[in-house]
Amino acid sequence: GQIGQSVFRSLILSAAKSPRIQAMAGRHGLKAGADRFVAGESLNDALNVLDRLHGEGMRTYVIALGEAVHTREGADAAARIYERLIPDVARNGQGTTFSIKLTHLGIEADRDLALRHARRIVSLAAEHSAFVRLDMEHSAVVDETLAIYRALRGDGLDNTGVVLQAYLHRSMDDLIGLLPLEPNIRVVKGAYLEPPGVALQRKTHVDVAYRQLVRTALTYAKFTAVATHDASAIRAAMADARKNDSDFEFQMLYGVGHALARQIVAHGHAVRICVPFGQDWFVYFTRRLAERPSNVLFVVRNLGRR
Ligand code: FAD
Repeated sequence: GQIGQSVFRSLILSAAKSPRIQAMAGRHGLKAGADRFVAGESLNDALNVLDRLHGEGMRTYVIALGEAVHTREGADAAARIYERLIPDVARNGQGTTFSIKLTHLGIEADRDLALRHARRIVSLAAEHSAFVRLDMEHSAVVDETLAIYRALRGDGLDNTGVVLQAYLHRSMDDLIGLLPLEPNIRVVKGAYLEPPGVALQRKTHVDVAYRQLVRTALTYAKFTAVATHDASAIRAAMADARKNDSDFEFQMLYGVGHALARQIVAHGHAVRICVPFGQDWFVYFTRRLAERPSNVLFVVRNLGRR
């Protein structure tokens, strides 16, 4: 039940920090099951997945995997990936958008460096009429992520958006604070391990908070990305959006909820799929495992087969 699920989440998310487990994953590579959630290690792998999804009537966004970068060289390297990625992907003319993680751009080491990189990436995207969202990460970087979003919008960069996590106690206040900017907001439940002082712990409570945050965004934000695989939250959002004549889309992760995404598209609603690629897939993969206990059995079975 509830307690089992949160113990499971903390076990997986803590185990993922172990160097031994990371080494084991490295040996088995994407074949250990990560290829269910990650397009591949190269940009070409990502481009192939994008084509396939567009063929099915889906919208897409791309993220270059990587986070928790604490050196200037690492942050510069991440920025260079995006500088190549954006023109290459924009060429497909399919309206693919992008996400960046500010810890990938070194925000934990040097806030100004991350801001400079983000500004350059979002400006480059603007030249290609592309949109870049700042992903939301663990709670220690929420203030600075929102500050960088405000700084970019203050520079006149309107092709950017942010993410709010329903499990954080602060998120409704953050949403209300952002409304004067006419923001483009992705609403998610939240994927990190956070303490009770900061975040709701019970799944049922997070589900209720998610519906409230989505409804408020659909009513007042400029654009809302309803990012979930939760069918009942999706139904509720469709009803709220109809009532408010909202500008919105659904978003899902590559490898999760594909049948549901197809149903939504068949109903005439837009679904944008997150397509992650790159060599630093391990931490992303463990967050996907922590979201559903049966995913771990699936990986263990794959390891056993090799
Ligand atoms: P849940 O109630 O957890 O899941 C609903 C159903 O979906 C489950 O019953 C199950 O059938 C299925 N499901 C969900 N996850 C999985 C999985 N991993 N494997 C198999 N089935 C699954 N989080 C952040 O903290 N910051 C972000 O910037 C962020 N961006 C995101 C962008 C997108 C497009 C999406 C879809 C999610 C993002 N998340 C982000 C993750 C989010 O916070 C949740 O951890 C994740 O979406 C799982 O919650 P859920 O809303 O799908 O609801």
